Amino acid sequence: MKEYNLHKDTVVVHGGYEDMAHHGSLTVPLYQTSTFSFETASQGEDRFSGAEEGNIYSRLGNPTVRVLEERVTALENGKGTLAFGSGMAAVSAILVHLTKSGDHILCSRGIYGCTFGLLGIMERKYNIKHDLIQMRTEGEIEQAVKPETVCIYVETPINPTMELVDLQAVVNVAKRHGLRVVVDNTFSSPYLQTPLDFGADFVLHSATKYMNGHGDVIGGLLTGNDKEEMESIRMSVQKDFGGIMSPFDAWLLIRGLKTLPVRMERHSANAEKIIRYLKKQKLVEEVFYPFDEDNPQYALAQQQMRAGGGIISFSVTGGKEGAQLFMDSLSLIKIAVSLGDAETLIQHPATMTHSSVPEQERLRMGITDSLLRLSVGLEHADDLIRDMESAFSNMK
Ligand SMILES: *Cc1c(COP(=O)(O)O)cnc(C)c1O
Repeated sequence: MKEYNLHKDTVVVHGGYEDMAHHGSLTVPLYQTSTFSFETASQGEDRFSGAEEGNIYSRLGNPTVRVLEERVTALENGKGTLAFGSGMAAVSAILVHLTKSGDHILCSRGIYGCTFGLLGIMERKYNIKHDLIQMRTEGEIEQAVKPETVCIYVETPINPTMELVDLQAVVNVAKRHGLRVVVDNTFSSPYLQTPLDFGADFVLHSATKYMNGHGDVIGGLLTGNDKEEMESIRMSVQKDFGGIMSPFDAWLLIRGLKTLPVRMERHSANAEKIIRYLKKQKLVEEVFYPFDEDNPQYALAQQQMRAGGGIISFSVTGGKEGAQLFMDSLSLIKIAVSLGDAETLIQHPATMTHSSVPEQERLRMGITDSLLRLSVGLEHADDLIRDMESAFSNMK
C-alpha cells in the first residue's frame, strides 16, 4: 500500500483507514458489534459479501480492530498484525504457534515476569524447555543453541536493568540455525526501534504501555514479516484460543497511537534531562539508560534505537531501605508498576515487579535491592527533578 512509505508520524494519524461506511467520518468509527449480518442472496448467488472482508463475527475480525492492525503493520515495517486482549495473550499466541512438545526456546535473561511464568507452564505441562542467557555476543548465543531449539525470544532494552540485546547478533545466529526470532518491543515502541528491519520474524507489544500511552487499556499486538503466516495464526491460535482485543480497546488505542511519535520524543528528552541530574547526585550509585554516553552499550543503542525512550533505572545508597525511603519521599512521581503513561511512575523491582524471582536469579539479572525503575512521563522535567530533589534531601 502506498501509505506504507509515509513517515511514522503520518502513519500513526492516517494509516490503514479508509472511510468504509462513506459517512465522511474523520476519525475511525467504533464498530462495537459481536456479529455481522449476511446479505440475503437471490438464488444461485454468493451470500458472503461482508464475509469476504472478514466481517462475520468479531472474534475472527472487526473493522475497527483491523484499522489498528494495519496501522501497526506499517509502523513496524511488517506484513501483518494481530491485536490481542493483553500483551500476554500476544506472547502466549506466538509461543504456542512456534513450538510443540519437546522443543526448546532460547531467551534473553531478564524477560517480563509473566512471560517467565508462561515458560514455566509450558515446561511443566508440555515439555517445552527454555534457557535464559545473556546475549551480548554472537558467540554467547551460538553456544546456547541446542538441536531442539526452534526460536530465540528476546526483550531489548531488558526490564528493568536497561541492558540491550544486540538484535543483529541474534538474527545472525538464528539465520545460521534456521531459528525464528521473536522480539518483545514494548520498551521501545516502533517509533524508536523496528526489529523486523534487522531480520526478526515477529515483534510484539504490551500495547498497554507506550503504544496506548494513556494508562486506560490492556492490550497486545503481534506483527510478523509474512502475511500468510499472520493470517494463519489469526484463523488458528487466535481464533481458537480466543484472546482477541475488543473493538472499544482498539478504538482507544487508535486514539492513543496518534501521539506516539510526539510522546516518545518528549519521554526521551525528559529522560535525558533526568539522567544528567541523577548522575550528579551523591546519593545515586549508578544510572542505567541506553542513550547515555557513559553507557558501554551506547554505540549499540545508537545502532538499533532512534532515542533512549522513557525508562531509566538507577541505584541509590542505603540498600533496600534507601531505595524505599527515596520512593516514599516523592509526591508528584507515583509509585506504580506498568510504564509508558503520561504520569511519571516509579517502582522498586526487588519488592514489586520482580519479587517472585528467586533472590539468586534476581541478583544475577542485576536487580539489586537498591535498584529503582523510573518510567519518565510527559510532565515538565523541571517539576520531576524538583520532586526528586526533595526526596533526596529527605534521605540525608
Ligand atoms: C507489561 C509487559 C508485558 C505484558 O503485557 P500485558 O499487557 O500486561 O499483558 C509483556 N512484556 C513487557 C516487556 C511488558 O512490560
